[in-house]
Amino acid sequence: MDSASGSSCNACGATGTALMKLSLGKDFFGRTYDRLSPSTDQSPKWYCEGCSMQKNLQRDFRDIRGEFDKLSAGQVSALSNQEEFQRASLRLREITAILTGTSTHSPFLTSADVTQLIGRMHTATMPA
Ligand SMILES: [Zn+2]
Repeated sequence: MDSASGSSCNACGATGTALMKLSLGKDFFGRTYDRLSPSTDQSPKWYCEGCSMQKNLQRDFRDIRGEFDKLSAGQVSALSNQEEFQRASLRLREITAILTGTSTHSPFLTSADVTQLIGRMHTATMPA
């Protein structure tokens, strides 16, 4: 595994721990995620294990929120597909559970943000 010795985690500043270069690859909906792909990433970040895990949660959260915003605006969205919508809802609950069970505060994502999105998505599935 690659490591940056003598560096610190780009998110929480942890030193003296294993750091991993995060290359995010595919987004939650299986699309190529271009912002941090190795070929286009001009400033790779290095995160400790806890932060890299939370960074992945944040990525999924952002993907889902972005698609839900499109759906709310009546645009074409991956969440128009009922199965994807269900999968995204489950993932958000999973993210909340992970955030709640983590003792360290996430520098990326708060469980309140996730809870709010779950509430919005729940409302969207209710008949008006
Ligand atoms: Zn960290």
